[in-house]
Amino acid sequence: MAFDLDSLVRPNIRDLVPYSSARGEFTGGAEIFLDANENSFGSLIDVDYSRYPDPLQTRLKRRIADLNEVDPTNIFVGHGSDEAIDLLMRIFCEPGRDSILICPPTYGMYEVSAAINDVSVIRVPLADGFELDTNAVLQAVTDRTKLIFLCSPNNPTGNSIGREEMLRLAASFAGIVVIDEAYIHFAKQPSLLSELSDLPNLVVMQTLSKAWGLAALRVGFAFAATQITRYLNAVKPPYNVSRPAQEIALRALNEADPARRVVAEIASEREKMARRLAELPVVRKVFRSDANFLLVRFDEPNEIYRILLEKGIVVRNRSSVAKCEGCLRITVGTAAENDAVLTALRNL
Ligand SMILES: *Cc1c(COP(=O)(O)O)cnc(C)c1O
Repeated sequence: MAFDLDSLVRPNIRDLVPYSSARGEFTGGAEIFLDANENSFGSLIDVDYSRYPDPLQTRLKRRIADLNEVDPTNIFVGHGSDEAIDLLMRIFCEPGRDSILICPPTYGMYEVSAAINDVSVIRVPLADGFELDTNAVLQAVTDRTKLIFLCSPNNPTGNSIGREEMLRLAASFAGIVVIDEAYIHFAKQPSLLSELSDLPNLVVMQTLSKAWGLAALRVGFAFAATQITRYLNAVKPPYNVSRPAQEIALRALNEADPARRVVAEIASEREKMARRLAELPVVRKVFRSDANFLLVRFDEPNEIYRILLEKGIVVRNRSSVAKCEGCLRITVGTAAENDAVLTALRNL
């Protein structure tokens, strides 16, 4: 594999002179800040948010670096991981010319982001058991394929993708391989973060939206070689993560351990829910899940979806997605919420 990052990057991005923000240009100590046209009289409410936030999220990155045993320069913090998906496309994919490759059924944002950026999408479906078909992927890429997106554990199927297959793909592909680990805390399989130093073309995405229970905050991470994070930081909007988001994220990373709550409660609810769903006559199949949701196949998915909705229960209808025919994706809720689902389905 001949990996040359600079030749993958769009020429306009390679030549980009990033926006230099007031707070980014300043170094050293000062007491009077008249550089950014902020309101020195403070905010019009009883908390003070009158100052722009740290554009490089220095404190937050230091904490994430410690927790994940990477260097702060290997971290990009985004307005959710959705921002990282979009920025990667804008850095690497020439609109109207380049392509990304995805393995459906998978997370819908990769395609939407590609469509927004006028980037074409090569689809290599997951094989039986929702496994990665590495050889088919390697055959399908062209010299214009810049990014391969894999999701592990995968949304909406719930399974983890084989670690060795993902590593083989990354080692054999001359473009960027993005592993979306939004659900990694729910899985037994470890993160691919440990492989970052060996694979210059690997990007690992994680988020505070799932295991950390902070979806409203909009904070996601992309971990990669410094060469790649440098580009992400150059193209991002200067103040992409708000000060309250940085502060609350830092507080969570200092105080909380998702492993405890996630392993003890959500994973055990998931297993309990999977067993009980499988006993119901209306259920055809419950797919094994390493995430905080279950993909469940019904004979009459649209009918089931409607009945649950009538009881005030919203699930995700994936029944029209190829390879997910008949399936609803049900997030694992609290014990009471899961009981409500089971009760509704039992009374049919
Ligand atoms: C939920 C989810 C995310 C999280 O996106 P955020 O923008 O960080 O909230 C990312 N990838 C997948 C596959 C998801 O399901």
